Amino acid sequence: MRKLTFKHGIHPRDHKSYTNAIPIRMVEPPELLYFPVQQHIGAPLDILVKPGDKVLKGQKLADSTAPVSVPLHSSVSGTVKDVGMYMHASGVKVPTVVVENDGQDTCVEFIEHDDLDALSKEDIIKLIREGGVVGMGGAGFPTHIKLSPPPEKEIRHIIINGSECEPYLTSDHRVMVEEPGMIIEGLHVIRKLFPQADAYVAIEANKPDAIETMKAEVEGTDIGVLTMQTKYPQGAEKQLIYAVTGKEIPSGSLPMDVGCIVINIDTATAIARAVKQGIPLCRRIVTVSGTMVSKPGNFSVRIGTPFSTVIEAAGGIGAVPGKIIMGGPMMGVAGHSLDVPVVKATSSILLFDQEEAKAGEESPCIRCGRCMSACPIQLRPLYLNAYALKGDWEQCQKENMMDCIECGCCSYVCPAKRHLVQSIRVGKQQLAKRK
Ligand code: SF4
Ligand code: SF4
Repeated sequence: MRKLTFKHGIHPRDHKSYTNAIPIRMVEPPELLYFPVQQHIGAPLDILVKPGDKVLKGQKLADSTAPVSVPLHSSVSGTVKDVGMYMHASGVKVPTVVVENDGQDTCVEFIEHDDLDALSKEDIIKLIREGGVVGMGGAGFPTHIKLSPPPEKEIRHIIINGSECEPYLTSDHRVMVEEPGMIIEGLHVIRKLFPQADAYVAIEANKPDAIETMKAEVEGTDIGVLTMQTKYPQGAEKQLIYAVTGKEIPSGSLPMDVGCIVINIDTATAIARAVKQGIPLCRRIVTVSGTMVSKPGNFSVRIGTPFSTVIEAAGGIGAVPGKIIMGGPMMGVAGHSLDVPVVKATSSILLFDQEEAKAGEESPCIRCGRCMSACPIQLRPLYLNAYALKGDWEQCQKENMMDCIECGCCSYVCPAKRHLVQSIRVGKQQLAKRK
């Protein structure tokens, strides 16, 4: 039997034991919540409210008529305090709606749809869009677009991605243990769109309790729960599709080109809430961890809650962090402040002290080849690095730099501590500009 894994990759220490056995805790929404309108990949939103307006929980604050967009909803009831430019987790100021929470949680009317058979495919796609659902693994791509492939692309496999291969991150793990029913409800909704497709929940072997819970949930159905080999980056779409189906996605192609759709765990629950319960995306599960956090764990957080409020719920920190990372230490991005809000794509807040934050000194490449052995895309990172530093974009193109998924495996294994992935990121931006 074929091993459920992909080629190359690495085995970093996972540091998941800080949080993986602790039940999800709720963070009480604070007095002021900040809703940046930039929370998805696609068109910017038009703000629909003004200072002084009363808003309900679940009410739209911003929306757009552009096809690649999803609305943004208030996660509390209260009054719009300000509409202005505020700092986003990405480090730039963006248009933001500030809502003063009245503590009442008065909701808009949520319209339930218990009977999926009564809904057309168009109804389902519309409900997912109107629910503001985006990929919650960190990508932030509108889910209704992902679930609307052109008619000629026949979807044969739906994969719910429970790999969660990034070190420290355990939010998907806890959702699988605590809310397996909602994940499968979300999967049922997706299967209404692609009734001919088979369906899997793919989970890395280092989450035995999640595997057991999900297997019990799907017992007696045709949904498969697959135990994947624990290896980074198992959760990357191309690697997961190869591991589950044996299909390779050609350079420049998408999962739909090989008949696959991959959906993140918390995105599946968001789909179920949006379609079956009529509740838009107002909260997400965030892993708060790292050596500086006194009570690490997973937290159910209203969108718009400042990081500082979430950190307080995790016991606070006694000193200034040396490094703030959002989205995992391998593929995440560095943060600059705790005075920014949780957005739909904030899967984690990791805090490390000054010592851990120190980057190793770069030295010349010793041509050991470890970066090539680690690269899951079978690229040649040492050459990509050299060509990017020289500004030789033609060679970067020839070496398929745009196929790099920025997983960081090459930098992780490099004994010379070459800043490989950083230079490749810059190179990809240059290639995109040239295109
Ligand atoms: S791992 Fe580092 S030192 Fe080794 S070949 Fe790659 S870039 Fe050079
Ligand atoms: S070149 Fe890109 S895809 Fe390959 S290991 Fe490095 S970051 Fe990952």
